[in-house]
Amino acid sequence: MAVIIDGKAVADRVRSEVAMEVQQLKSRGITPGLAVIIVGDDPASRVYVDNKKKDCARVGIYSEEFALPADTDQEQLIALVTSLNNRSDINGILCQLPLPSHIDENAVISAISPAKDVDAFHPSNVGNIMIGKYSFLPCTPAGVMELIHSAGISVEGKRCVVIGRSNIVGKPMAMLLLHENGTVTICHSRTKDLKEICAEADILIAAVGRLKFVTADMVKPGAVVIDVGINRDENGKLCGDVDFYKVEKVAGYITPVPGGVGPMTRAMLLKNTLTAAKLQNALLME
Ligand code: NAD
Repeated sequence: MAVIIDGKAVADRVRSEVAMEVQQLKSRGITPGLAVIIVGDDPASRVYVDNKKKDCARVGIYSEEFALPADTDQEQLIALVTSLNNRSDINGILCQLPLPSHIDENAVISAISPAKDVDAFHPSNVGNIMIGKYSFLPCTPAGVMELIHSAGISVEGKRCVVIGRSNIVGKPMAMLLLHENGTVTICHSRTKDLKEICAEADILIAAVGRLKFVTADMVKPGAVVIDVGINRDENGKLCGDVDFYKVEKVAGYITPVPGGVGPMTRAMLLKNTLTAAKLQNALLME
């Protein structure tokens, strides 16, 4: 049976480290601040934004919500981002995605100052990740790396397979594994022989968004299986991409859903906001 990597416990540890550093900053008169922008009334986005505000409050980070109506135009949104770029009490800016279809997400992300881009989606931060010289990492892949490290697993020389090639999960995930000297394969919807490729992985990361996509026959005995997916089963229960109860009998390590990558994504946003505050106050070398 696989060892279950407890994302809640690791996220708790990250949060308490952040909380301690936030207290130290506050004693120097600096309160890290995060602006969270939400456009429209998508219920899932609302839950994410509420959670982010709660998480900030728990560790002493100041957060401010900007809830804009669904018919906000792109210029208005970019004007808000620009005003937040210029506020010294706001260190991080996060625009909850997806945005309504009449707004160009890339234009909005590009308007965020790279120094305040705590999601690490700005093209210049994406480029910095490619060359391995970064201040911020996107929260989900960074959280996955933290989970792997917490279990004492070394990536060096391992065969790593990432299923999914999105800009926010799959691609940066592959890059972080590569930085740690993994031999990385990225699989996607057009990949041939997916099962065979996955079955060779020492570290298998699923970021697809399909229930029970990773089955036991796709997993090498003893492999590390990280489940990024968020899905609902026929009873509305939260599930990942991995057929958990069957795969845990084969894998060496596995992350559950809920309680795996999700809590880490939330914790890493707090860490990025803290880093942003330190960088903007010249307390950290870039
Ligand atoms: P996405 O839809 O942008 O990307 C999905 C990827 O899966 C694509 O690159 C696609 O090529 C690949 N794919 C689809 N069908 C496939 C198939 N049959 N074979 C192989 N690959 C296939 O999604 P995303 O934003 O990268 O998110 C992926 C999943 O992770 C979703 O379930 C999302 O909800 C979840 N997610 C979780 C967290 C978290 O904190 N746990 C954070 C972000 C995303």
